[in-house]
Amino acid sequence: MLPGPTNVYHCPGCSKSILQWTLASANSLGAKYYSDGRIKAPDFPATVIITQCEDCGTIFWLDREIKVDEFEDDDFREDDALKRDYYREQGAWAEELDKEGWVKAIQKGAFRNPKEEIYLRKKLLWCLNEFFLENKGFLDAEDFLLRQENANNLIKLLDNTAQRDLLLIAELHRNVGNFESCLEVLDLVTEPDLQRMAYGIFKKCRVKDSKVFELG
Ligand SMILES: [Zn+2]
Repeated sequence: MLPGPTNVYHCPGCSKSILQWTLASANSLGAKYYSDGRIKAPDFPATVIITQCEDCGTIFWLDREIKVDEFEDDDFREDDALKRDYYREQGAWAEELDKEGWVKAIQKGAFRNPKEEIYLRKKLLWCLNEFFLENKGFLDAEDFLLRQENANNLIKLLDNTAQRDLLLIAELHRNVGNFESCLEVLDLVTEPDLQRMAYGIFKKCRVKDSKVFELG
């Protein structure tokens, strides 16, 4: 993993400096792929693109328009080293939202287009499914309903004419126990590259297993 420049933003709520690290290059060696589209790559962490300010609680997208500065982590460049020390002293790193953060962002309507809502809902899905998997297939009533509601909304937002979206729609139906609908949608996935994943989901669906699984 090779770090890229660190971007600096100002929180729209309180102007605190928020720092976003970026990657210049990374590899996906040792990555794990899951049936819901989540990728867990130890050497390829996703760059944070929406965050919550720890001081004032504002949730905001790290848009290029509100970027105020950037610096390289390079001791040999005096300007960069000074900026780094300054921003690290008085700023905070942009942290990925947690489950409550994703829910809050969705409920507050912190999205400006369907693409952003899909992003938030996929993140919430992955959060809940990861927890579900670690918790041996158990979710409390609140999370269970949240997962159901989120899946139904995500199904409506996805493009049912795009093959990859169809695969995720099928998986979402399976996750919430709509096995009939899962099979119907799987029938529409015809792209050769997706057949292995589609078959994996099909096999789980046939035995009415709703748990997300790691793709072998
Ligand atoms: Zn703030």
